Amino acid sequence: MSENYFKKYPNENGYFEEYGGAFLPPVLETEMKNITQAYFSISKSHNFISELRSIRKHYQGRPTPVYFCNRLSDKYGGRIYMKREDLNHSGAHKLNHCMGEALLAKHLGKKKLIAETGAGQHGVALATAAAYFGLECEIHMGEVDIVKEHPNVVRMEILGAKVVPVSEGLKTLKEAVDSAFNAYVADPVTSLYCIGSVVGPHPFPMMVRDFQRVVGIEAREQFYEMTGELPDKVVACVGGGSNAMGLFSAFLEDDECEIYGVEPSGRSLEPGEHAATMTLGKPGVIHGFKCYLLQDEKGEPAPVYSVASGLDYPGVGPEHSMLKDLKKVKYDTITDKEAIDAFYELSRLEGIIPALESAHAVAYALKLAQKYPQKSILVNLSGRGDKDIDFVVDEYGLPENPK
Ligand SMILES: *Cc1c(COP(=O)(O)O)cnc(C)c1O
Repeated sequence: MSENYFKKYPNENGYFEEYGGAFLPPVLETEMKNITQAYFSISKSHNFISELRSIRKHYQGRPTPVYFCNRLSDKYGGRIYMKREDLNHSGAHKLNHCMGEALLAKHLGKKKLIAETGAGQHGVALATAAAYFGLECEIHMGEVDIVKEHPNVVRMEILGAKVVPVSEGLKTLKEAVDSAFNAYVADPVTSLYCIGSVVGPHPFPMMVRDFQRVVGIEAREQFYEMTGELPDKVVACVGGGSNAMGLFSAFLEDDECEIYGVEPSGRSLEPGEHAATMTLGKPGVIHGFKCYLLQDEKGEPAPVYSVASGLDYPGVGPEHSMLKDLKKVKYDTITDKEAIDAFYELSRLEGIIPALESAHAVAYALKLAQKYPQKSILVNLSGRGDKDIDFVVDEYGLPENPK
């Protein structure tokens, strides 16, 4: 990947063509400009780069392997490979950007990390990073989510984070974002707001992408070393889009690689039953940036649903929105049912229990393998499925004893 793409996107105002930007109240505008400036000067420094490299190697256990799925490929055709982000410390790719954001906070002399969380995955990853650096951590979470995602609340508390219950509105992610933003605005000098994906106002989509690029850089090199060529197809699931941007960023200029982003079509493509933002959304503004957005008649973010709670966001990263328009990436959907089947297939044929989010990418890879039996497919296995096991068995049963 030539550096030109990364110099060009985003532009200095945080735009990926027409998407991105920073739609913010004036106080936050100044803060975001400060963070952007600090990011550009600090993240390119030798100290920052060498510390991040050392953390990735000795703490996170990177590089994570690329693994050839022998039995899965035998059954479905194709040659299916997985980038094993489930083996990254704490069990998913999210720690890649949380360690980067926390390291930036440390270099800025901040004392506290603030964020919101929906299902709790981002909260747990950020609490992990805060513990590593000895920073305070405050996670805002809707009261409904606190009840639903109890194990992650306990994890955050064990890691020393303070979980702040949010009781406004629907008491879920959207209100948690507002609450976290307010806490940050009240104390921007000693705290840093840390977003959980390639979304939000500039500079977050750029920073989070840059911290996730390690996934693609490693995977491209590892795949080439294993096979002597590049993959024919590259696949990742897209919620906000951070694991996908991490992998895709290394293949954007390889015209021989076809790139696929997979969104959830949930129970159906009826309103409220899916989170297929790229397939059915229209450009709009959410949480301070412009992107494809599932919206109601008034232009408000529409209710969304997926069996994978990490994928149910009505917006999507601005860079993905641009890559769709540029036709660099194809975006397609997988249903709940297909993801559950893939969850069991990968578990039983390879001994790997995937996160339900990642199972969407696996399900899509299995379809591609059947359609293109001669091709090689590299899938981002963004996380492990331990968090999902009770839910899956309670709701769907085992394959030999379905509900
Ligand atoms: C949060 C999460 C996702 C979705 O987030 P992206 O920013 O789209 O990557 C995907 N997989 C796992 C395992 C997650 O925890």
